[in-house]
Amino acid sequence: MTDAPSYGFDTLQVHAGARPDPATGARQTPIYQTTAYVFRDADHAAALFNLQEVGYIYSRLTNPTVAVLQERIATLEGGVGAVCCSSGHAAQIMALFAIMAPGRNVVASTRLYGGTVTQFSQTIKRFGWSAKFVDFDDLDAVKAAIDDDTRAVFCESIANPGGYITDLDAISAISDAAGLPLIVDNTSATPYLCRPIEHGATLVVHSTTKYLTGNGTVTGGAIVDSGKFDWSATDKFPALSAPEPAYHGLKFHETFGPLAFTFHGIAIALRDLGMTMNPQAAHYTLMGIETLSLRMERHVQNAMTVAGWLETHPAVEAVTYAGLPSSPYNHRVAQICPKGAGGLFTVALKGGYDACVKFVDSLDLFSHVANLGDTRSLVIHSASTTHRQLSEAQQVAAGAGPNVVRISIGIENAEDLIADLDQALSKASA
Ligand SMILES: *Cc1c(COP(=O)(O)O)cnc(C)c1O
Repeated sequence: MTDAPSYGFDTLQVHAGARPDPATGARQTPIYQTTAYVFRDADHAAALFNLQEVGYIYSRLTNPTVAVLQERIATLEGGVGAVCCSSGHAAQIMALFAIMAPGRNVVASTRLYGGTVTQFSQTIKRFGWSAKFVDFDDLDAVKAAIDDDTRAVFCESIANPGGYITDLDAISAISDAAGLPLIVDNTSATPYLCRPIEHGATLVVHSTTKYLTGNGTVTGGAIVDSGKFDWSATDKFPALSAPEPAYHGLKFHETFGPLAFTFHGIAIALRDLGMTMNPQAAHYTLMGIETLSLRMERHVQNAMTVAGWLETHPAVEAVTYAGLPSSPYNHRVAQICPKGAGGLFTVALKGGYDACVKFVDSLDLFSHVANLGDTRSLVIHSASTTHRQLSEAQQVAAGAGPNVVRISIGIENAEDLIADLDQALSKASA
């Protein structure tokens, strides 16, 4: 497809980044199952290695199948470029890698995927980085948490597991005023429901494992660059603004302008961290993205129906779905994700921890798995699984207390989902 920014989302999710294969005319994007690419001659090889010419060298850095996916995701998010990698967690490390340094910190929302809380509160310390967790509904607390060593602000658009909606406009006003990049994890919303760059995000990260692939087949991640951040405005981001010794003193921002982060992600981060997406995974995700809008519409429609039904059930204490008028986040739907609040929410049961365990064990159609964003409906009892490593206070702050079950609503018939939930709730409260 040639550049045609006027195409609508449904068209772009099928076509962006792809063109008939120049060698064979193959209409579907081929899986370029190759490690390396033949150089035209020694000069061509040298130019590629010097970043003077863009092309394929080795599949740890770039691969034509992965490149189509990168362009497709960047287009759907409204960014200038994207780097795909091996998982959502890899995408988060890759996003921070160009920005952070030993002694620096990221100010992060308390409402995050459990694995991200663990990654940020424990593992990144090994790099000398740290995270400060703040309630992102308390804007003064976000401002107060930013100090001279802060290099990024991080949140989820629709936050896992509760489906809370972050006021991205208010948060980006704070990160802008502090001269810091805002990184938004848009996994739960997808670009169909929310486009964080339009609300001021600098970088958008994804676990493509979830809705973008959509059927629970492969893990993957992506970092989309808005191209809007001035990495050279201060000396806070030397990886992007200062001379890079590994490329003869090249300055990424000066050389590549709005594509600085994307080129750094490929030429430094993928080259040296090696968290590469393989072409098979890119193929599955490209297949999934073709139907993203159709699936998300059904996920939202089913989630509205099921969440509304659950809310009135006598065994249920509360439902967090932001699409419900009872949600304190309902007013943000129109502002942040106008096509709907997604397919993810939590339900708190009056019977507490024991009722939750019985409930998940009694479901037939819903699967108890550590995943979300599948065509199949899924549940997980976060407190005994994904959020197990957290303290009870952290669990509650993350919206994953002991009496809470997370539900990822699939694209099945809503009445079948309700019937399954109904029988399991009866058993759980017996
Ligand atoms: C799953 C998930 C991640 C981590 O992604 P992986 O592909 O499992 O590494 C990060 N953020 C959110 C919101 C997720 O749902």
